[in-house]
Amino acid sequence: MDDSIKRSYEKYFRLNRLPHLWCPGCGNGIAMKAIVMAIEKHPELNKDNTVIISGIGCSSRASGYMDFDTLHTAHGRALPFATGIKMARPDLKVIVITGDGDCTAIGGNHFIHTCRRNHDLTVILFNNNIYGMTGGQTSPMTPQGKKATTTPYGSMAHPLDPSALAKAAGATYVARSTAYHVKHLADVIEQGLNNHGFAFVEAIVQCPTSYGRKNKMGSPADMLAWMRDHAVMKAAWDKMSDEEKTGEKFPIGVFLDTRAAEYGDEYNKLIERLGGARS
Ligand code: SF4
Repeated sequence: MDDSIKRSYEKYFRLNRLPHLWCPGCGNGIAMKAIVMAIEKHPELNKDNTVIISGIGCSSRASGYMDFDTLHTAHGRALPFATGIKMARPDLKVIVITGDGDCTAIGGNHFIHTCRRNHDLTVILFNNNIYGMTGGQTSPMTPQGKKATTTPYGSMAHPLDPSALAKAAGATYVARSTAYHVKHLADVIEQGLNNHGFAFVEAIVQCPTSYGRKNKMGSPADMLAWMRDHAVMKAAWDKMSDEEKTGEKFPIGVFLDTRAAEYGDEYNKLIERLGGARS
């Protein structure tokens, strides 16, 4: 890689915190890089006006490596922290990094209601289909039939679709991509950063240690090839028949890009109406 390109991304990381603790071949690093690729396309964003907040889990270690104002919070509580910061300092760009368990299990109610209020946040969920950090238990996104330490004969439950949930709950930008489609992933995050309201990006990432090994998915490269072979761009997905949509294929792309009243703006209007001044 050209040295100048390499350096342009290095500035976003706390090099004294590296090497990271993710397993070799983990997809979390790819998703973290996609976030800084997206930030790089927004010259107005810098270390002083961008806050990165995470919860708990392998994904949420990312905030520790990123050289911004960062908060590594409690399990499932990244969104309440992010909401508080955005309400106190609406001038800041607030980005949340979360995982499938953090966002939709213990943090599920926060997720629904933060979408509903359309807070101006950009949320990137690293979906690896499992609780990686705690040893490979099923998460809400473990596909039916897939094995985990808590479901050695295969998960019986239907998995949650977090993008569909975000859309139904009131988010105003919703997209999905994968660690294989890294440029596409950076592009949809970049568009999410443009959204004035709740932007949600689901990044499908590989966990070769806790999910791939249990489900005989091969090497990290094999898991990336699986994403290549099963992800379908939304335009093509929309033309597929219901029969073609069965199995493990899934759509990627922008599912929603709309406008709606943002909570902080509505709050400001209320304060103005009541004759007060926001501190
Ligand atoms: Fe990544 Fe899985 Fe290892 Fe966690 S357990 S660092 S998600 S490969």
